[in-house]
Amino acid sequence: MIVGVLVELSNKNVDKVFDYRVPKEFEKKIKIGIRVKVSFGHMELIGFILDIKKEDNRELKEILEILDKEVILNEELLALGRIMQKETLCTLISAYQAMLPKGYKASRKTNVNKKIYTYVKLNNYKEQGKLSASALKIIEYVKKSGPVLRSVVNKISKSSVDTLIKKEILTCYDQEVYRLENTQEKGSKQYELTRDQKKVVDEVLNDQEPSTYLLHGVTGSGKTEVYMELIDHYLKLKKEAIVLVPEISLTPQMVSRFKKRFGSNIAVLHSALSDGEKYDEYRKIVRGEVQIVIGARSAIFAPFCHLGIIVIDEEHTASYKQENNPKYNAIDIAIKRSQYHHCKVLLASATPSLEDYARAQKKVYKLLHLPKRINNRELPKIEIVDMNKAIRKSKNGFSLELIQAIQDTINRGEQVLLLLNRRGYSSFISCSSCGYVEKCPNCDISLTYHKTSNTLRCHYCGYGTKVNEVCPHCKEKALKQMGMGTEKIEEIIPKLFEQARVIRMDFDTTSKKGAHEKIINAFKNKKYNILLGTQMIAKGLDFEDVTLVGVINADTSLNIPDFRSSEVTFQLLDQVAGRSGRKDKNGKVIIQTFNKDHYAIKYAKDHDYIGFFNTEMMVRRQLSYPPYYYITYVKIMSKEYSLASKESMKIGNYLKKKLTSSIILGPSVCNVFRINNTYRFGIIIKYKNEDQLYKALETLIEHYKSNSKIKIDIDFNPNSL
Ligand code: ADP
Ligand code: ZN
Repeated sequence: MIVGVLVELSNKNVDKVFDYRVPKEFEKKIKIGIRVKVSFGHMELIGFILDIKKEDNRELKEILEILDKEVILNEELLALGRIMQKETLCTLISAYQAMLPKGYKASRKTNVNKKIYTYVKLNNYKEQGKLSASALKIIEYVKKSGPVLRSVVNKISKSSVDTLIKKEILTCYDQEVYRLENTQEKGSKQYELTRDQKKVVDEVLNDQEPSTYLLHGVTGSGKTEVYMELIDHYLKLKKEAIVLVPEISLTPQMVSRFKKRFGSNIAVLHSALSDGEKYDEYRKIVRGEVQIVIGARSAIFAPFCHLGIIVIDEEHTASYKQENNPKYNAIDIAIKRSQYHHCKVLLASATPSLEDYARAQKKVYKLLHLPKRINNRELPKIEIVDMNKAIRKSKNGFSLELIQAIQDTINRGEQVLLLLNRRGYSSFISCSSCGYVEKCPNCDISLTYHKTSNTLRCHYCGYGTKVNEVCPHCKEKALKQMGMGTEKIEEIIPKLFEQARVIRMDFDTTSKKGAHEKIINAFKNKKYNILLGTQMIAKGLDFEDVTLVGVINADTSLNIPDFRSSEVTFQLLDQVAGRSGRKDKNGKVIIQTFNKDHYAIKYAKDHDYIGFFNTEMMVRRQLSYPPYYYITYVKIMSKEYSLASKESMKIGNYLKKKLTSSIILGPSVCNVFRINNTYRFGIIIKYKNEDQLYKALETLIEHYKSNSKIKIDIDFNPNSL
């Protein structure tokens, strides 16, 4: 018997199946989709079996070891990986690895495994001679408690436990335990659905086709109840459900609502879990112990065999697309899987991505609506503060209007959400004498001051350095902190407001495991009355007592030179505004901006998604951007400036020659030209229909695959340029 093995190395040069002979004694255990150990060059590697072939007389190396009893990659996932390879031009192995938690990947380095506990239990036994006092005590203990961890009774007397086992009075056995306990949550409040909610549910259930739906539901319209109702339906048909949530910060809330309704029938998969925990959660799915998975992007690959529905919450979120290879989009994968399973895909958002809403208009997706908040609660009133005028009377970036509103809200005993989409203390450090700006030595980007650690840090490469006393350029003692980040606001707030109790949630305060949950719970339980944060706090959170949302600076995302910057700004503002006044009290929102006339801000003020959509579609049409054109972005990177420049010119010319139905822009330097001492050029390919695209790009990859000095990176439908 001969098998084709795909080894763990993700390299275009070895991105194919290699044949190995199976020793006789292994033959019975061979299945497609299991892992094996093979020797490869001078290494021993792990790989997946992808083919089983007839014996022939070639001289081949033998398989060294079989690692799995059960299939890791089933037929569906194997096929899905091939599609990913084709559509994103990634290596096949990287597609498979992306589907699996660490403990299941093909990797010689992982040692994630089952967590095993050793238990003892009592046998039926006859009295055998005299037992020591401690032995009797142990027997009493186990009689009362039932099977118990060996380590517990060892504490009474280890030698007596050994003796009891030897005399066969106790039996000792191993059992796998899950690292995350499947806690039940009480207090199920199953609401009677509103007419609108019911209509959405019925539309999905009465539709016999395996369709994709786009649910456009304003913030607080009860989308989560709709998900649960639909899922309940499929669970009763013995089918399964995947729920994707965009950020770790939202997972606990979603999980808690689901647990109240579905008990322990849920596995959770997101990046804040340890490798061991992910492994266990994954095993719950593999063993068929749960019917629901809630998780981030990669949970889309959950190896269910009877999918009934896939729900993608906050579907417009950029993180559903993986930034590094394989650059897959979880929404595409969901639709691919739905075709295999004949199941439903429900995309939902208050601010659907432009592309997806356009698709719904063209009836590629079926459009569903939840136009009103639950109980007809009004959407919060949004006030725009023109900072061009307000800045003179403002204090530390807070306009008088915002100061007054925050103080009033605190005085009423209610809560405030404050958004500033910039972490750190100040945005950059500049010399007021010579204009010098402290920059990262590895990247073309200014350094951010972090007061907690008293360092300057690069948000691109992680470089950190001590703060200079004097300007390294002119030697004057004139270095000044410019702009503000969340750290600084956190420091200012208690000085501006009486009785303010502020908690900060951003990348820097949430690096520890469980930190998100802790912050959210502490705020929910009223230990704090102001939650300050970056875009992390904008989405999905449901706090009853938040009646004021303040946006300190709406311009941070607007000023990024990218074709999506208006869309991202509108989404961010609409989402964060949606956190205000969700329960019984009316909410208010104050947005500070230097661009009060920008349409993204004007439409956000009126909660007018459709208005924004129409205007932005016009802009995109004029500039030939998605959804009117597809975009593929080719990045050319090298540590050597001249090489990067020369090769990108060559590539640009090549693409212009080959892709005659496309608009080709560039090469030009990337937004951040240098990151980690690597120079980056970009070429934008815009097209509606380009049948030569894959062929040309594959040729490029092929041409450069053995060139260690040049890296080519290809991104189809990029989130940003
Ligand atoms: P969305 O996800 O659309 O922002 P949620 O699902 O969080 O909205 O719902 C907003 C609030 O309304 C939640 O507190 C939820 O418990 C409540 N809610 C949802 N559906 C109903 C209903 N049918 N009746 C009463 N309250 C509901
Ligand atoms: Zn850097």
